[in-house]
Amino acid sequence: MEILDSMKAFFVRRMLLSRKVPKDCENPLEGWMAIKARETLRKSGYKLSAYDRTDTISRKDFEEYQLLRFREQMRYAEAEAPHYRNLYKDAGVRPEDIRTYEDLEKVPFTYSHELAENPYTFCGASATKLAREFTTTGTSGRRKTIGFTSGDLVSKVDIIASALSNIGMRKGDSLHIMFPTVSAWDPSLMMSAACKVLGYGSSTCSETDISVQMKVMKEAGSTHIIGLPSFIYRVTALMGKETDLTALGIKKIISTSEPLSESVRKALEDAWGCKVLDVWGMTEMGLACAVECDEQDGLHTDEANILFEVIDPETGKHVPAGQEGELVVSGLNSQGTVLLRYRTKDRVSMQDPPCRCGMSFNKKLNKPRGRMDMQSKVGMGYKVYPLLFDEVLFKENDVVEYQLKITKEDYKDVLTFEVETPAPGHELEERIISLVSSVKEISDGIAEDLIERPRVKFVDVGSMEYSAKAKKILDLRENYD
Ligand SMILES: [Zn+2]
Repeated sequence: MEILDSMKAFFVRRMLLSRKVPKDCENPLEGWMAIKARETLRKSGYKLSAYDRTDTISRKDFEEYQLLRFREQMRYAEAEAPHYRNLYKDAGVRPEDIRTYEDLEKVPFTYSHELAENPYTFCGASATKLAREFTTTGTSGRRKTIGFTSGDLVSKVDIIASALSNIGMRKGDSLHIMFPTVSAWDPSLMMSAACKVLGYGSSTCSETDISVQMKVMKEAGSTHIIGLPSFIYRVTALMGKETDLTALGIKKIISTSEPLSESVRKALEDAWGCKVLDVWGMTEMGLACAVECDEQDGLHTDEANILFEVIDPETGKHVPAGQEGELVVSGLNSQGTVLLRYRTKDRVSMQDPPCRCGMSFNKKLNKPRGRMDMQSKVGMGYKVYPLLFDEVLFKENDVVEYQLKITKEDYKDVLTFEVETPAPGHELEERIISLVSSVKEISDGIAEDLIERPRVKFVDVGSMEYSAKAKKILDLRENYD
Protein backbone atom coordinates (compact mmCIF):
# COMPACT_ATOMS: atom_id res chain seq x y z
CA MET A 1 0.00 0.00 0.00
CA GLU A 2 2.75 2.40 0.96
CA ILE A 3 4.65 1.67 -2.25
CA LEU A 4 1.54 2.33 -4.33
CA ASP A 5 1.00 5.63 -2.56
CA SER A 6 4.56 6.73 -3.13
CA MET A 7 4.29 5.79 -6.82
CA LYS A 8 1.16 7.90 -7.05
CA ALA A 9 2.99 10.74 -5.35
CA PHE A 10 5.79 10.36 -7.90
CA PHE A 11 3.38 10.72 -10.86
CA VAL A 12 1.54 13.59 -9.21
CA ARG A 13 4.81 15.45 -8.69
CA ARG A 14 5.67 15.03 -12.37
CA MET A 15 2.35 16.63 -13.31
CA LEU A 16 2.88 19.69 -11.16
CA LEU A 17 3.68 22.90 -13.01
CA SER A 18 4.88 24.52 -9.80
CA ARG A 19 7.94 22.30 -10.07
CA LYS A 20 8.70 23.62 -13.56
CA VAL A 21 8.91 27.24 -12.43
CA PRO A 22 12.60 28.23 -12.66
CA LYS A 23 14.40 28.79 -9.34
CA ASP A 24 15.36 32.36 -10.28
CA CYS A 25 11.76 33.28 -11.09
CA GLU A 26 10.94 36.34 -8.98
CA ASN A 27 7.20 35.77 -8.86
CA PRO A 28 6.51 32.02 -8.82
CA LEU A 29 2.74 32.55 -9.03
CA GLU A 30 2.94 34.56 -12.23
CA GLY A 31 5.58 32.17 -13.61
CA TRP A 32 3.20 29.29 -12.96
CA MET A 33 0.36 31.03 -14.79
CA ALA A 34 2.56 31.92 -17.75
CA ILE A 35 3.80 28.32 -18.13
CA LYS A 36 0.25 26.97 -17.99
CA ALA A 37 -1.07 29.51 -20.52
CA ARG A 38 1.88 29.06 -22.90
CA GLU A 39 1.55 25.26 -22.91
CA THR A 40 -2.19 25.46 -23.62
CA LEU A 41 -1.85 28.05 -26.38
CA ARG A 42 1.00 26.20 -28.05
CA LYS A 43 -1.06 22.99 -28.18
CA SER A 44 -3.97 24.88 -29.77
CA GLY A 45 -1.71 26.12 -32.59
CA TYR A 46 -1.84 29.77 -31.47
CA LYS A 47 1.26 31.78 -32.33
CA LEU A 48 2.67 33.33 -29.15
CA SER A 49 4.56 36.61 -29.06
CA ALA A 50 8.31 35.97 -28.72
CA TYR A 51 9.68 36.00 -25.17
CA ASP A 52 13.07 34.79 -24.06
CA ARG A 53 11.68 33.20 -20.90
CA THR A 54 8.98 30.56 -20.57
CA ASP A 55 7.79 31.99 -17.24
CA THR A 56 6.35 35.17 -18.70
CA ILE A 57 3.68 36.06 -21.27
CA SER A 58 2.04 39.22 -22.65
CA ARG A 59 -1.36 40.26 -21.28
CA LYS A 60 -2.80 39.98 -24.79
CA ASP A 61 -1.68 36.36 -25.19
CA PHE A 62 -2.80 35.58 -21.67
CA GLU A 63 -6.32 36.88 -22.36
CA GLU A 64 -6.34 34.77 -25.51
CA TYR A 65 -5.62 31.75 -23.29
CA GLN A 66 -8.47 32.67 -20.92
CA LEU A 67 -11.03 33.04 -23.72
CA LEU A 68 -9.88 29.79 -25.32
CA ARG A 69 -10.33 27.95 -22.01
CA PHE A 70 -13.70 29.65 -21.42
CA ARG A 71 -14.99 28.42 -24.79
CA GLU A 72 -13.69 24.93 -24.06
CA GLN A 73 -15.43 24.91 -20.67
CA MET A 74 -18.69 26.06 -22.28
CA ARG A 75 -18.48 23.14 -24.73
CA TYR A 76 -17.65 20.70 -21.96
CA ALA A 77 -20.48 22.01 -19.74
CA GLU A 78 -23.06 21.79 -22.54
CA ALA A 79 -22.05 18.23 -23.34
CA GLU A 80 -21.60 16.87 -19.82
CA ALA A 81 -23.38 18.96 -17.16
CA PRO A 82 -27.22 18.90 -17.30
CA HIS A 83 -27.65 22.43 -15.90
CA TYR A 84 -25.96 23.90 -18.96
CA ARG A 85 -27.57 21.65 -21.58
CA ASN A 86 -30.27 24.10 -22.61
CA LEU A 87 -28.99 27.21 -20.89
CA TYR A 88 -26.87 28.42 -23.79
CA LYS A 89 -29.29 27.25 -26.49
CA ASP A 90 -32.12 29.22 -24.85
CA ALA A 91 -29.88 32.29 -24.55
CA GLY A 92 -28.86 31.94 -28.21
CA VAL A 93 -25.13 31.95 -27.46
CA ARG A 94 -22.52 29.56 -28.80
CA PRO A 95 -19.00 29.00 -27.43
CA GLU A 96 -17.48 30.29 -30.69
CA ASP A 97 -19.29 33.63 -30.14
CA ILE A 98 -16.99 34.41 -27.20
CA ARG A 99 -13.99 36.14 -28.78
CA THR A 100 -13.49 39.14 -26.47
CA TYR A 101 -13.92 39.98 -22.82
CA GLU A 102 -17.02 42.05 -23.71
CA ASP A 103 -18.58 38.98 -25.39
CA LEU A 104 -18.77 37.32 -21.97
CA GLU A 105 -21.76 39.54 -21.18
CA LYS A 106 -23.80 37.40 -23.61
CA VAL A 107 -23.36 34.31 -21.42
CA PRO A 108 -26.05 33.72 -18.74
CA PHE A 109 -25.08 33.82 -15.04
CA THR A 110 -25.24 30.91 -12.63
CA TYR A 111 -26.30 31.34 -8.99
CA SER A 112 -25.43 29.78 -5.66
CA HIS A 113 -29.06 28.82 -4.93
CA GLU A 114 -29.12 26.77 -8.16
CA LEU A 115 -25.94 25.01 -7.10
CA ALA A 116 -27.34 24.36 -3.59
CA GLU A 117 -30.59 22.92 -4.99
CA ASN A 118 -29.12 20.66 -7.69
CA PRO A 119 -25.37 20.25 -7.18
CA TYR A 120 -24.99 17.27 -9.49
CA THR A 121 -26.48 19.05 -12.51
CA PHE A 122 -23.36 21.26 -12.45
CA CYS A 123 -21.07 18.27 -12.49
CA GLY A 124 -19.28 17.32 -15.70
CA ALA A 125 -17.96 14.00 -14.42
CA SER A 126 -19.92 10.94 -13.30
CA ALA A 127 -20.03 10.21 -9.58
CA THR A 128 -17.54 7.35 -10.00
CA LYS A 129 -14.95 9.74 -11.42
CA LEU A 130 -15.19 12.16 -8.50
CA ALA A 131 -12.25 11.80 -6.16
CA ARG A 132 -13.63 14.13 -3.51
CA GLU A 133 -16.77 16.03 -2.65
CA PHE A 134 -16.53 19.21 -0.60
CA THR A 135 -19.42 20.79 1.21
CA THR A 136 -19.16 24.50 1.88
CA THR A 137 -19.42 25.62 5.49
CA GLY A 138 -22.84 27.11 4.83
CA THR A 139 -22.44 30.20 7.02
CA SER A 140 -23.49 32.48 4.23
CA GLY A 141 -26.42 30.54 2.88
CA ARG A 142 -27.35 26.96 2.19
CA ARG A 143 -24.69 24.30 2.07
CA LYS A 144 -23.32 23.57 -1.38
CA THR A 145 -21.64 20.42 -2.58
CA ILE A 146 -18.75 20.65 -5.03
CA GLY A 147 -17.24 17.65 -6.81
CA PHE A 148 -13.56 17.43 -7.73
CA THR A 149 -11.92 14.79 -9.93
CA SER A 150 -8.36 13.73 -9.14
CA GLY A 151 -7.22 16.05 -11.96
CA ASP A 152 -9.03 18.95 -10.26
CA LEU A 153 -7.35 18.14 -6.94
CA VAL A 154 -3.86 18.03 -8.45
CA SER A 155 -4.52 21.41 -10.06
CA LYS A 156 -5.73 22.93 -6.74
CA VAL A 157 -2.72 21.61 -4.83
CA ASP A 158 -0.49 22.93 -7.60
CA ILE A 159 -1.83 26.48 -7.36
CA ILE A 160 -1.64 26.45 -3.54
CA ALA A 161 2.00 25.37 -3.84
CA SER A 162 2.72 28.26 -6.23
CA ALA A 163 0.93 30.70 -3.94
CA LEU A 164 2.94 29.53 -0.91
CA SER A 165 6.24 29.93 -2.73
CA ASN A 166 5.11 33.35 -3.93
CA ILE A 167 4.49 34.29 -0.32
CA GLY A 168 8.12 33.45 0.29
CA MET A 169 8.11 29.93 1.73
CA ARG A 170 11.25 27.97 0.94
CA LYS A 171 12.70 24.53 1.74
CA GLY A 172 13.14 24.16 5.49
CA ASP A 173 10.13 26.39 6.29
CA SER A 174 7.04 24.99 7.96
CA LEU A 175 3.41 26.11 7.70
CA HIS A 176 1.14 26.01 10.74
CA ILE A 177 -2.43 25.49 9.51
CA MET A 178 -4.65 26.99 12.17
CA PHE A 179 -8.35 26.46 11.52
CA PRO A 180 -10.17 25.95 14.82
CA THR A 181 -13.36 23.89 15.06
CA VAL A 182 -12.93 22.41 11.59
CA SER A 183 -11.02 19.18 12.15
CA ALA A 184 -9.74 17.16 9.18
CA TRP A 185 -11.07 19.89 6.95
CA ASP A 186 -10.29 19.14 3.30
CA PRO A 187 -8.67 22.49 2.56
CA SER A 188 -6.21 21.83 5.39
CA LEU A 189 -5.32 18.52 3.76
CA MET A 190 -4.72 20.24 0.42
CA MET A 191 -2.50 22.85 2.07
CA SER A 192 -0.39 20.22 3.77
CA ALA A 193 -0.19 18.28 0.46
CA ALA A 194 1.02 21.45 -1.25
CA CYS A 195 3.72 21.86 1.41
CA LYS A 196 4.76 18.26 0.93
CA VAL A 197 5.26 18.50 -2.85
CA LEU A 198 7.52 21.52 -2.45
CA GLY A 199 9.46 20.08 0.47
CA TYR A 200 8.05 22.39 3.16
CA GLY A 201 6.96 21.17 6.56
CA SER A 202 3.42 21.60 7.90
CA SER A 203 1.35 21.13 11.04
CA THR A 204 -2.43 21.27 11.36
CA CYS A 205 -4.30 22.08 14.56
CA SER A 206 -8.06 22.52 14.94
CA GLU A 207 -8.13 23.17 18.71
CA THR A 208 -9.73 26.36 20.00
CA ASP A 209 -7.49 26.10 23.08
CA ILE A 210 -4.78 28.60 22.23
CA SER A 211 -2.14 27.02 24.48
CA VAL A 212 -2.49 23.80 22.43
CA GLN A 213 -2.09 25.83 19.23
CA MET A 214 1.10 27.42 20.58
CA LYS A 215 2.49 24.06 21.66
CA VAL A 216 1.89 22.43 18.25
CA MET A 217 3.42 25.44 16.51
CA LYS A 218 6.55 25.37 18.65
CA GLU A 219 7.02 21.60 18.28
CA ALA A 220 6.71 21.81 14.49
CA GLY A 221 9.20 24.68 14.27
CA SER A 222 6.63 26.73 12.35
CA THR A 223 7.89 29.65 10.26
CA HIS A 224 4.57 30.60 8.64
CA ILE A 225 0.97 30.60 9.89
CA ILE A 226 -2.24 30.41 7.89
CA GLY A 227 -5.64 30.85 9.49
CA LEU A 228 -8.71 32.96 10.13
CA PRO A 229 -7.79 36.51 11.15
CA SER A 230 -10.38 36.50 13.95
CA PHE A 231 -8.71 33.47 15.53
CA ILE A 232 -5.11 34.59 15.02
CA TYR A 233 -6.13 37.91 16.55
CA ARG A 234 -7.64 36.04 19.48
CA VAL A 235 -4.42 34.08 20.03
CA THR A 236 -2.47 37.32 19.82
CA ALA A 237 -4.70 39.29 22.19
CA LEU A 238 -4.69 36.54 24.80
CA MET A 239 -1.10 35.26 24.49
CA GLY A 240 0.61 38.50 23.56
CA LYS A 241 0.33 39.88 27.09
CA GLU A 242 2.39 37.10 28.66
CA THR A 243 4.54 35.94 25.73
CA ASP A 244 6.91 37.73 23.41
CA LEU A 245 5.47 36.42 20.15
CA THR A 246 8.32 37.83 18.07
CA ALA A 247 10.62 35.29 19.78
CA LEU A 248 8.86 32.51 17.82
CA GLY A 249 10.51 33.74 14.63
CA ILE A 250 7.40 33.59 12.45
CA LYS A 251 8.28 34.99 8.99
CA LYS A 252 4.77 35.58 7.59
CA ILE A 253 1.16 35.24 8.63
CA ILE A 254 -1.43 34.43 5.99
CA SER A 255 -4.98 35.55 6.69
CA THR A 256 -7.80 33.77 4.87
CA SER A 257 -11.56 33.02 4.77
CA GLU A 258 -12.64 36.27 6.46
CA PRO A 259 -12.11 39.92 5.50
CA LEU A 260 -8.91 41.29 7.06
CA SER A 261 -9.23 44.77 8.57
CA GLU A 262 -6.19 47.06 8.58
CA SER A 263 -6.49 47.39 12.39
CA VAL A 264 -6.20 43.63 12.85
CA ARG A 265 -3.34 43.52 10.32
CA LYS A 266 -1.44 46.18 12.24
CA ALA A 267 -2.04 44.57 15.63
CA LEU A 268 -0.78 41.20 14.32
CA GLU A 269 2.24 42.68 12.55
CA ASP A 270 3.26 44.58 15.70
CA ALA A 271 2.84 41.56 17.95
CA TRP A 272 4.53 38.93 15.75
CA GLY A 273 7.07 41.17 14.06
CA CYS A 274 6.29 39.97 10.53
CA LYS A 275 4.12 40.85 7.56
CA VAL A 276 0.50 39.69 7.40
CA LEU A 277 -0.74 38.85 3.90
CA ASP A 278 -4.32 38.39 2.82
CA VAL A 279 -5.59 35.44 0.76
CA TRP A 280 -9.04 35.22 -0.81
CA GLY A 281 -10.64 31.94 -1.75
CA MET A 282 -13.92 30.13 -2.04
CA THR A 283 -14.60 26.40 -1.79
CA GLU A 284 -16.48 26.48 -5.10
CA MET A 285 -13.27 27.52 -6.87
CA GLY A 286 -10.68 25.75 -4.73
CA LEU A 287 -8.57 27.74 -2.30
CA ALA A 288 -5.94 30.41 -2.82
CA CYS A 289 -7.91 32.10 -5.62
CA ALA A 290 -6.10 35.38 -4.91
CA VAL A 291 -2.97 36.05 -2.86
CA GLU A 292 -1.46 39.29 -1.62
CA CYS A 293 2.20 40.08 -2.37
CA ASP A 294 4.61 41.96 -0.09
CA GLU A 295 3.35 45.27 -1.50
CA GLN A 296 0.08 44.69 0.42
CA ASP A 297 -1.84 46.56 -2.22
CA GLY A 298 -4.33 44.09 -3.66
CA LEU A 299 -4.41 40.33 -4.15
CA HIS A 300 -2.92 38.61 -7.22
CA THR A 301 -5.58 36.44 -8.80
CA ASP A 302 -5.23 32.88 -10.10
CA GLU A 303 -6.26 33.87 -13.58
CA ALA A 304 -4.92 30.66 -15.09
CA ASN A 305 -7.74 28.70 -13.44
CA ILE A 306 -10.37 31.37 -12.88
CA LEU A 307 -11.72 34.15 -15.07
CA PHE A 308 -12.66 37.11 -12.87
CA GLU A 309 -15.29 39.69 -13.82
CA VAL A 310 -16.76 42.53 -11.78
CA ILE A 311 -20.34 43.49 -12.61
CA ASP A 312 -22.96 45.95 -11.51
CA PRO A 313 -25.28 43.64 -9.51
CA GLU A 314 -28.37 45.50 -10.77
CA THR A 315 -27.65 45.65 -14.52
CA GLY A 316 -25.34 42.63 -14.83
CA LYS A 317 -22.93 44.71 -16.98
CA HIS A 318 -19.14 44.92 -16.48
CA VAL A 319 -17.83 47.80 -14.42
CA PRO A 320 -14.44 49.45 -15.16
CA ALA A 321 -11.25 48.60 -13.21
CA GLY A 322 -11.23 50.26 -9.80
CA GLN A 323 -15.03 50.46 -9.49
CA GLU A 324 -16.74 48.31 -6.88
CA GLY A 325 -19.26 45.67 -7.92
CA GLU A 326 -20.10 42.00 -7.52
CA LEU A 327 -17.45 39.43 -8.31
CA VAL A 328 -18.38 36.85 -10.97
CA VAL A 329 -16.07 33.86 -11.47
CA SER A 330 -15.68 31.14 -14.10
CA GLY A 331 -13.57 28.04 -13.59
CA LEU A 332 -11.34 27.56 -16.64
CA ASN A 333 -10.02 24.04 -16.02
CA SER A 334 -12.73 22.21 -14.08
CA GLN A 335 -13.66 18.59 -14.70
CA GLY A 336 -15.98 17.94 -11.73
CA THR A 337 -18.30 20.81 -10.77
CA VAL A 338 -18.27 23.36 -13.59
CA LEU A 339 -19.12 26.93 -12.67
CA LEU A 340 -19.32 29.50 -15.43
CA ARG A 341 -20.20 33.14 -14.73
CA TYR A 342 -21.02 32.26 -11.14
CA ARG A 343 -22.31 35.14 -9.01
CA THR A 344 -20.30 35.16 -5.76
CA LYS A 345 -22.14 37.99 -3.90
CA ASP A 346 -18.70 39.31 -2.88
CA ARG A 347 -18.20 43.09 -3.04
CA VAL A 348 -14.91 43.75 -4.82
CA SER A 349 -13.05 45.93 -7.26
CA MET A 350 -10.07 45.03 -9.44
CA GLN A 351 -6.78 46.63 -10.50
CA ASP A 352 -5.02 46.30 -13.84
CA PRO A 353 -1.36 45.18 -13.96
CA PRO A 354 1.51 45.80 -13.45
CA CYS A 355 2.25 45.58 -9.72
CA ARG A 356 5.24 47.10 -7.91
CA CYS A 357 6.33 43.57 -6.95
CA GLY A 358 7.23 42.91 -10.58
CA MET A 359 4.19 40.91 -11.70
CA SER A 360 3.51 42.17 -15.18
CA PHE A 361 0.32 40.67 -16.62
CA ASN A 362 -1.77 39.60 -13.66
CA LYS A 363 -4.88 41.48 -12.47
CA LYS A 364 -5.33 42.16 -8.77
CA LEU A 365 -8.36 42.05 -6.55
CA ASN A 366 -8.52 45.01 -4.19
CA LYS A 367 -8.91 43.90 -0.60
CA PRO A 368 -12.31 42.14 -0.40
CA ARG A 369 -14.75 43.90 1.91
CA GLY A 370 -17.03 40.97 2.63
CA ARG A 371 -20.15 39.44 1.21
CA MET A 372 -23.10 41.52 0.18
CA ASP A 373 -25.46 39.20 2.07
CA MET A 374 -23.59 39.80 5.34
CA GLN A 375 -24.58 43.44 5.42
CA SER A 376 -27.49 45.03 7.27
CA LYS A 377 -29.06 48.43 6.83
CA VAL A 378 -29.41 50.95 9.63
CA GLY A 379 -30.70 54.50 9.96
CA MET A 380 -31.52 55.97 6.56
CA GLY A 381 -30.72 52.67 4.80
CA TYR A 382 -26.95 52.88 5.41
CA LYS A 383 -25.21 49.60 4.70
CA VAL A 384 -23.10 48.25 7.54
CA TYR A 385 -20.93 45.14 7.41
CA PRO A 386 -18.47 43.54 9.88
CA LEU A 387 -15.29 45.00 8.34
CA LEU A 388 -16.48 48.55 9.16
CA PHE A 389 -16.55 47.74 12.88
CA ASP A 390 -13.47 45.45 12.81
CA GLU A 391 -11.55 48.42 11.52
CA VAL A 392 -12.35 50.62 14.53
CA LEU A 393 -12.87 48.13 17.38
CA PHE A 394 -9.66 46.18 16.94
CA LYS A 395 -7.68 49.39 17.38
CA GLU A 396 -8.50 48.80 21.04
CA ASN A 397 -6.12 46.13 22.39
CA ASP A 398 -8.55 45.04 25.08
CA VAL A 399 -11.22 44.00 22.58
CA VAL A 400 -10.75 40.27 21.96
CA GLU A 401 -13.97 39.72 20.01
CA TYR A 402 -17.36 41.34 19.58
CA GLN A 403 -20.83 40.75 18.24
CA LEU A 404 -23.28 43.45 17.17
CA LYS A 405 -26.97 42.95 17.86
CA ILE A 406 -29.37 45.27 16.06
CA THR A 407 -32.83 45.81 17.56
CA LYS A 408 -35.47 48.51 17.24
CA GLU A 409 -37.06 50.77 19.85
CA ASP A 410 -39.92 52.83 18.44
CA TYR A 411 -38.56 54.08 15.13
CA LYS A 412 -34.89 54.04 16.13
CA ASP A 413 -32.28 51.36 15.53
CA VAL A 414 -30.43 50.20 18.63
CA LEU A 415 -26.90 48.89 18.19
CA THR A 416 -25.64 46.83 21.11
CA PHE A 417 -22.02 45.70 20.96
CA GLU A 418 -21.32 42.62 23.06
CA VAL A 419 -17.60 42.83 23.72
CA GLU A 420 -15.37 40.05 25.02
CA THR A 421 -12.59 41.63 27.08
CA PRO A 422 -10.26 40.90 30.00
CA ALA A 423 -10.56 44.56 31.13
CA PRO A 424 -14.20 45.69 31.33
CA GLY A 425 -14.92 49.13 32.78
CA HIS A 426 -16.52 52.51 32.23
CA GLU A 427 -13.52 53.97 30.42
CA LEU A 428 -13.33 51.13 27.90
CA GLU A 429 -17.09 51.43 27.37
CA GLU A 430 -16.79 55.12 26.54
CA ARG A 431 -13.85 54.50 24.19
CA ILE A 432 -15.80 51.78 22.35
CA ILE A 433 -18.86 54.02 21.98
CA SER A 434 -16.70 56.78 20.61
CA LEU A 435 -14.92 54.38 18.19
CA VAL A 436 -18.11 52.90 16.72
CA SER A 437 -19.75 56.34 16.60
CA SER A 438 -16.84 57.49 14.44
CA VAL A 439 -18.04 55.20 11.64
CA LYS A 440 -19.74 57.56 9.19
CA GLU A 441 -22.81 55.37 8.69
CA ILE A 442 -23.40 55.43 12.46
CA SER A 443 -22.60 59.09 13.12
CA ASP A 444 -24.94 60.14 10.28
CA GLY A 445 -27.70 57.92 11.68
CA ILE A 446 -27.25 59.38 15.17
CA ALA A 447 -27.28 62.94 13.79
CA GLU A 448 -30.49 62.19 11.89
CA ASP A 449 -32.01 60.79 15.09
CA LEU A 450 -32.60 57.37 13.49
CA ILE A 451 -29.98 55.49 15.51
CA GLU A 452 -29.72 55.48 19.32
CA ARG A 453 -26.36 56.13 20.99
CA PRO A 454 -24.55 52.74 20.69
CA ARG A 455 -24.62 50.49 23.75
CA VAL A 456 -21.92 48.18 25.10
CA LYS A 457 -22.32 44.96 27.04
CA PHE A 458 -19.17 43.30 28.36
CA VAL A 459 -18.78 39.54 28.51
CA ASP A 460 -15.94 37.55 30.13
CA VAL A 461 -13.12 36.12 28.06
CA GLY A 462 -14.08 32.60 27.03
CA SER A 463 -17.84 33.11 27.43
CA MET A 464 -18.22 33.99 23.77
CA GLU A 465 -17.64 30.58 22.30
CA TYR A 466 -15.29 30.83 19.35
CA SER A 467 -16.60 29.42 16.11
CA ALA A 468 -15.08 29.81 12.68
CA LYS A 469 -16.80 32.46 10.58
CA ALA A 470 -19.26 33.37 13.36
CA LYS A 471 -21.99 35.83 12.45
CA LYS A 472 -20.72 39.18 13.68
CA ILE A 473 -23.87 41.16 13.02
CA LEU A 474 -27.14 39.74 14.30
CA ASP A 475 -30.15 41.59 12.98
CA LEU A 476 -32.96 40.97 15.48
CA ARG A 477 -35.45 43.49 14.12
CA GLU A 478 -38.80 41.99 13.20
CA ASN A 479 -40.27 42.28 9.73
CA TYR A 480 -37.16 43.95 8.48
CA ASP A 481 -36.02 43.26 4.96
ZN1 LIG B 1 2.32 42.35 -6.46
